[in-house]
Amino acid sequence: MSENRPSPSRIAVVVEAPQHSGLWGALDYLCEQPLAPGTLVRVPLGRRVVTGVVWQAGADSAAGEVAEQDLKAVIEVFDGLPPLPDAWRQLVKFASAYYQRSLGEMALMVLPPELRQLDALQWGRRLKRLNKAVTDAPSVPDEAALPVLTEQQAQALGQLASAGAQAGDKPFLLWGSTGSGKTEVYLRQAQRALDEGRQVLMMVPEINLTPQLEARVAERFAGRRIVSLHSGLTPAQRLRNWLMAHYGHADLILGTRLSVFTPLPRLGLIVVDEEHDPSYKQQDGARYSARDLAVYRARLEKVPVILGSATPSLESWYNALPEAEGGAGRYVRLAMPARVGDGDMPRVRVLDLSRAPKPMRGQEPPPVARELLAAITQRIEQGEQSLVLLNRRGYAPVLHCSDCGWKSGCPHCSAWRVFHKVDRTLRCHHCGFTERVPRACPDCGNTDIHPVGRGTERLEEQLAEALPGARIGRIDADVTKHKGALEERLADVHAGEVDVLVGTQMVAKGHDFRRITLVAAVNPDSALFASDFRAAERQFALLLQAAGRAGRDADVAGHSEMWVQTYHPTHPLYQALSRYDYADFAAQQLKEREMAGLPPYASLAMLRAEAKTQEAAVAFLNAAIEAVAHLAEALGGITLYPPVPTPVQRVANVERAQLMIESPLRPALQRFLSQSQAVWLELAQKNRRSGLIRWAVDVDPLSI
Ligand code: ADP
Ligand code: ZN
Ligand code: ZN
Repeated sequence: MSENRPSPSRIAVVVEAPQHSGLWGALDYLCEQPLAPGTLVRVPLGRRVVTGVVWQAGADSAAGEVAEQDLKAVIEVFDGLPPLPDAWRQLVKFASAYYQRSLGEMALMVLPPELRQLDALQWGRRLKRLNKAVTDAPSVPDEAALPVLTEQQAQALGQLASAGAQAGDKPFLLWGSTGSGKTEVYLRQAQRALDEGRQVLMMVPEINLTPQLEARVAERFAGRRIVSLHSGLTPAQRLRNWLMAHYGHADLILGTRLSVFTPLPRLGLIVVDEEHDPSYKQQDGARYSARDLAVYRARLEKVPVILGSATPSLESWYNALPEAEGGAGRYVRLAMPARVGDGDMPRVRVLDLSRAPKPMRGQEPPPVARELLAAITQRIEQGEQSLVLLNRRGYAPVLHCSDCGWKSGCPHCSAWRVFHKVDRTLRCHHCGFTERVPRACPDCGNTDIHPVGRGTERLEEQLAEALPGARIGRIDADVTKHKGALEERLADVHAGEVDVLVGTQMVAKGHDFRRITLVAAVNPDSALFASDFRAAERQFALLLQAAGRAGRDADVAGHSEMWVQTYHPTHPLYQALSRYDYADFAAQQLKEREMAGLPPYASLAMLRAEAKTQEAAVAFLNAAIEAVAHLAEALGGITLYPPVPTPVQRVANVERAQLMIESPLRPALQRFLSQSQAVWLELAQKNRRSGLIRWAVDVDPLSI
């Protein structure tokens, strides 16, 4: 080695490596100049060149045995990109450990996809363009235009202001009725953060809700730099917005769950709106909960976090319940029970279907009972709108041959294919397999095959028949597939061009309809008896949120109604709903959960396996239990349940099974899972030829 050249230094770099590679931590590389942790680099990996993140200066102690002459050198450095901050690396590290994914997978997954694909040259060009784009200076909004706060808003903001130094240690749960003005609270708190020169991260559960929030935020903070981050952006937009945030140029970042990982050098506030929404949990790959990570991040970066909802998740509710009331007392609860302008929530009418006239033999009951139809008719006559909620899209969930009993099953899944009348197809909602509807029964040739049950498409058709002359609209995933279609349909509703809107849960969320005075849930019972322990919680949230779409204008709030058609009118869920008593509903649920040893009283993880046969999936899971039984025993307090097929057992010809792992103590479960990973990894490698396709751990699973 020559005297005047500095010796290359060792650095540890994380790269994206699939979980089954067994590579969990960082790899060592050599580089000429020392690089700060968080620097983005291109490094050789096998025969490829990949993007990596410098994790630490100096060798990774775990990988330290590699001799220097065997190490490869860093190929390129992303100059001009500030290193990802320490807080970012800590968040990624925590998420990787907590959700049982490799560090590299986690770190690279949360970067904008485009960034991972650029080389240093392309990066340099991109950087030049970006620097040109950011020059405008923020202006200060006009104070006079702000609405006068309601008493409850003022009180909530008072408590938020007094959080001071413990900000982050005590998350806030803003429990406010729909229409209580939660957004105004977010905006005022955001103003405080902006005034201090900080950045604000506001999260919403769905892309569909970002334009609405963006408009409100843009109106309030004219002149501020606002960027959005969600999967609906083009790769270039997403990179640009992410960079604006990372450089500290953007003041407000609005995004879906993936935005929780945005590096923000001046972070001052995190808001998680509709914190109970299942969309905050990623459902494949690294199955993280953005809500939970937001709470972790707030503590890490010592900034306040507000979780907002009218129907908080039971986990958050329990955390915000004072210890004296049997809760954990970890969060501060801010209650805003009243709607702005004191408009009441719509009156709930529970319609007992068991007392409705029985349909004739072989006929299906009408979609809406007589009384409900009359109520809708009346609204139309008054020039008001109704929303009819049915959480099932398509025309009918199944086609049936009454001669031989044939049903429209999916050949690749253990599920029925849904009949879509618009294009006369049978579509599997699990694997996507689509075929034209057969003219006759494929089994017996009978031409009389008919739909059974009802989806939104059919409901729309039936309501049009039952309400001649009425303008019926529909909003669900089928009619809003194309870009702009949702906005168009919503605009029609807002413009009063629709009398009755049929929709799935998609319309229940967030939208500020001003002329809807009647909301009806026509088939909400299925959730009452679902095997998933969270079904009731989700249904309550959905119904309450749907009710919140009615009477948003104080002028019409007085005579607004929420109808529930049910065969179980005395069910406690509907009883609590009638009184809008979330606290009572939560208390019922918590009692059940406590007795059953379910979250929030216990922590769960699911070990899932997919294989060519159900036997292979179950065999792997059984072997997995056996291989770690001693670990579970040594740790104590870990229960491993026997493997069972997943609710939809076969999807796209892949058989699926799962086993539940439960512990009353989260740390014990965490320790168990991290010790088990290596064992399972090895086991899976041995099982490669047995038909096992993949396996994964889902920590804090949303559905079981
Ligand atoms: P939430 O998010 O709790 O459902 P919103 O923030 O959407 O409620 O508020 C409902 C409506 O009330 C919105 O149209 C909003 O502009 C309005 N609003 C909120 N706070 C006030 C206030 N203090 N004075 C007047 N109108 C308000
Ligand atoms: Zn038949
Ligand atoms: Zn299928």
